[in-house]
Amino acid sequence: MDKTENLKLTFHPFDLQLKHKFTISLNSRTFTPLMLVEFEHGGYVGYGEASMPPYLSETQTSATEFLSKINLNNFSDPLSQQEDILNYVKGIAPGNPAAKAAIDIALHDLIGKIKNIPCWKMLGSDPQKMPLNSCTLGIDTPEVMRKKVLDADAFKVLKIKLGSEDDKLIINTIREITDKPLYVDANQGWKDVVFAEDMMHWLKEKGVVLVEQPMPKSDLESHARLKEKKILPTFADESFQNISDLPKIKEAFDGVNIKLMKCGGINAAAQIIRDARKEQMKILIGCMNESSCAIMAAAALAPQCDFVDLDGPFLVKNNPFADPIMKDGKIQLSNEPGLGIKKNLD
Ligand code: MG
Repeated sequence: MDKTENLKLTFHPFDLQLKHKFTISLNSRTFTPLMLVEFEHGGYVGYGEASMPPYLSETQTSATEFLSKINLNNFSDPLSQQEDILNYVKGIAPGNPAAKAAIDIALHDLIGKIKNIPCWKMLGSDPQKMPLNSCTLGIDTPEVMRKKVLDADAFKVLKIKLGSEDDKLIINTIREITDKPLYVDANQGWKDVVFAEDMMHWLKEKGVVLVEQPMPKSDLESHARLKEKKILPTFADESFQNISDLPKIKEAFDGVNIKLMKCGGINAAAQIIRDARKEQMKILIGCMNESSCAIMAAAALAPQCDFVDLDGPFLVKNNPFADPIMKDGKIQLSNEPGLGIKKNLD
């Protein structure tokens, strides 16, 4: 390898088409805008991805603008300069966590390939400790919900989006079809803490094992009360964007939902895992609508987490990479170097 060769960065927008219109308590959509990134060095190519659902602040335009500012002329050795590159990218502009995650993921994939080692191994993960993966079902009519449950046959746990008028109907419909354990994500949909308490008691009876973001993100007082009641473990998603939020939410929730697109990538997520463990918090690693690229990046850290919700590629029609392999309800980590992902033929 020519060590003096510069790193080359390319990127292009991509619309990830969803199999089903995706509805949560705030909105619904049919595709999710991505930015696909490639880092090239010494004949190796590392893949990265930014996923930018419309309710967050990033877009393909903002990502293009951010990534265009990156000048890699000072970097010729990704192995020794990984930290420097990531710090440089981080310092270009505040915000832009998904665009920064794309760079971080591509750099991890590239370095894994150059060193001929899988990313999960570089990160110290033990594949034997991989938790079950869950599949998220968006809110829909009972007939469509039935079809979605059947489609998610490979999964041993389902995550249900609640937070509408029909919460009990949705759960009862699912319970007519399957007795799999359920995670619930209310996406801030419950506005009254007494109602939320009652719902959590009812859900527990129905075989729900955790609840994500039951109430509005800024209502930490209500969340703290729910945590105190110890009905079901609660996880912060919208209330938890990145590591700087940890001190303010640690008393209000039992755990955090880490997403690479919120926190800025693999390195940031690994740091959150270390810090959250010190606070005895539980960890769920989740995703946006993402291709196999960002999903396998999160999967590399998943054995260090308690719960895994990495279903992105299974809910889309045009994954640009081969789907992750699921076995016994768990994502299989590949022994291939880097993220272990293969591009689908165009
Ligand atoms: Mg959520």
